[in-house]
Formats: sequence, C-alpha cells, structure tokens
Amino acid sequence: ASVAVVLGTRPELVKLAPLIHELGEATRLVHTGQHWDEAMSGRFLRDLGLPRPELLTGVGGRPRAGQIAQSLGQLDAAFADDRPAAVVVQGDTNATLAGALAANARGIPLVHVEAGLRSFDRAMPEEHNRVMVDHVSDLLCAATPENAANLRAESLDGQRIAVTGNTVVEVVRHRLPDAPARAALLTRHGVAPDGYVLATVHRPENTDTPEALGAVLAELDRIARAGTPVLFPMHPRTRAAVERFALDRLLDRLAVTEPVGYAEFLGLARHAALLVSDSGGVQEECTVLGRPLLVVRRSTERPEAVDAGFAALVRPGAELGGLARAWLADRTERLARLAATPSPYGDGLASARIARLTAELAGRPVAALAA
Ligand code: UDP
Repeated sequence: ASVAVVLGTRPELVKLAPLIHELGEATRLVHTGQHWDEAMSGRFLRDLGLPRPELLTGVGGRPRAGQIAQSLGQLDAAFADDRPAAVVVQGDTNATLAGALAANARGIPLVHVEAGLRSFDRAMPEEHNRVMVDHVSDLLCAATPENAANLRAESLDGQRIAVTGNTVVEVVRHRLPDAPARAALLTRHGVAPDGYVLATVHRPENTDTPEALGAVLAELDRIARAGTPVLFPMHPRTRAAVERFALDRLLDRLAVTEPVGYAEFLGLARHAALLVSDSGGVQEECTVLGRPLLVVRRSTERPEAVDAGFAALVRPGAELGGLARAWLADRTERLARLAATPSPYGDGLASARIARLTAELAGRPVAALAA
C-alpha cells in the first residue's frame, strides 16, 4: 500500500475513518499504541468499519517525550522497510507529531488533516503538537476558512493550504444508527428523547485536581438530583482520578458506564437535551447532530461551534451549573433553532477532497495508489 495513515488515539480513528475508506486498498494503517486498549479499540474499529491496524509497541502512560521518541523510532524503521508514497496524520496528539517527524526525516510527503486549529493556549501540549506538525506538512487540510487564516497568519505558504471541510460531517452521517436502533438504545439506557444530559470529561484541566473534577461532578450530581438523568460514560483517566480523590459519592446519582462504542455515543448524543464535555471531537459532532453543548474548558481551538450558537465555554463550577439549568429550561426553542442551523464544518465531502489531494501529492490518481 502506498499511503501510510499514522494514528494513536480514539479521535484520530473517528476522524480518519472516512478518509481511510476513500483511499481504500491504498491505505496502510499504523497505530502507535498511544491509547490502545484491546477491548475498547476492537469495538471501535468495528463501529467505524476499519481494518485492524499494524500495531506498534504501546507507548501509553509514558511521559510525552518518551512516547514521541519511541513512536518516531518505530515509524522510521517501518518506513525504511516499506517506504510510503505519502504519510497522513490528523489532529494534535503525540502520535500525530511522531508520524509527522518520521515522514519529515525521510522526505516523504506529509498531509495534515485538521490543520490550522489554534487555542493560543501554550499550556496545552496539543497546541505545540499542532503548530509543529503544520510547519512540516506539505499539504495542510484546513477544515474551515478560520483554520486556513490561522495558517496564513504564521506565514505558511498558501499553496500548501486547502480548505476541505471536516471529515466529522461524513463520519457522523455514516455512523449514526438509524431511528429504530436509536429508539432501542434510549430504551436500553432508560431515557427519553430530549430528556437527559450526556456528559464526558477526561482532559487534564478537569481531572488533575480534586477541585476541578469535584466541581464538574457536583454540578452533574445537582442536575441529576433536580430530575434530569445524566448519562456519564467514564474515561479510564477520569475513573482513576475519582478513586484517587475519593469523589465516588458524587457518582451515586449519575448513570455511569464504561466508555461506549462510537455508534452508541452518536445515538445517545443525537437525542440528548444537553451535552456536557471537554472533548474536542464532541465540539464538532454537536454541530452535525444539532445538539447544544457546554464545553468545560478554559480555551478552545474550535471556536466555530461557539460562534454558530451550538456551544458555550464554561468553568467547571457554578458557571457550568447555571448555564446547564438555563439551557435545559429553554430546550424546546434551542433544539428547534439548532436543528435549523447548518454545521460550520462543511458539506460531508471533506474526505473525498483530501483523498484526491493526497493522491496528487503522492503523484498518482487515488485508484492507482495501491498499485
Ligand atoms: N466517544 C465515544 N464514546 C465515549 C465517549 C466519546 O465514542 O464513551 C467519541 C466522541 O464521539 C468523539 C471521540 O470519542 O468522537 C472523542 O474522543 P476523546 O474525547 O477521547 O478525544 P478528543 O475529541 O477530546 O480529542
């Protein structure tokens, strides 16, 4: 195969799935093992219709430099054995950076999907990963005109930049379960359409201190006590933090589950009265699903959902609670308005555009890539 797609985490699998399908036989899928959990990842691959990737030795849990160094060394060896015509990376993880550096070191053309995101928050390692990857990429696939403007503001050559839309639009459309399956899903979780909150938290800013995590969980607990069910698929990092800080009591009224598969998550998100999350991907998915989202973060590299009226940034305590109550109270008008608001993330053809541009960069048509 001629195009190596390098990834290492759940959101990268989600966003790259439609592109991997577009590239078809041409793809060589390489997973760095940054977040590889046999049970969770197998189900995720099935949900996304993806083949099993070439799995490098897991680097999860190690400090950032060690992860990047180990993946870089392994990717370099893999590319030396079988040189790809192009390398594709997505987003801002340590796997993204390792993939980019490995391509750069061997002079292999590099494509960055979701280029040009900026939080301007230098406390986030992801911000540094994004900037470094953008600056060594040969093709910068910006999801929105704002993302392209961020790249031009850093003097990146306009010829390397293409506004493609975000692949999240097509992945949500393809993977959202149909209406009968969604109805069965809601029944299984014991919730009614527009009648519950779906929450996820896992970012260090919300899980590294008992104050922050306690403040998020206390507000979710309050919502549940006031009578709105709160579904809470809990990330392993969050579960560990709850135990470490002895916050278990705040989970008593929440419907806590293991992380759910992608189709299940979309099905649940589609009918939630309110989403509460610190995830990057959920900030995009909410615009395709037409659901309101409170983003529990200090800053966001994705202002589009906020600007279009789908989302608001909130601090973990009273601000989260206050806005959650307000948005639940006026949900009827809000849901009607959002259902009529187009997603700022494009038309659902991003992956077809990116596949064509990748093939051009690799010097052959998509259909001939595998040859
Ligand atoms: N997600 C999922 N199951 C869950 C929680 C999240 O499938 O239980 C999906 C979610 O829809 C999103 C992705 O996982 O597409 C987000 O991953 P994560 O929050 O780990 O990363 P981020 O988006 O913050 O980079």
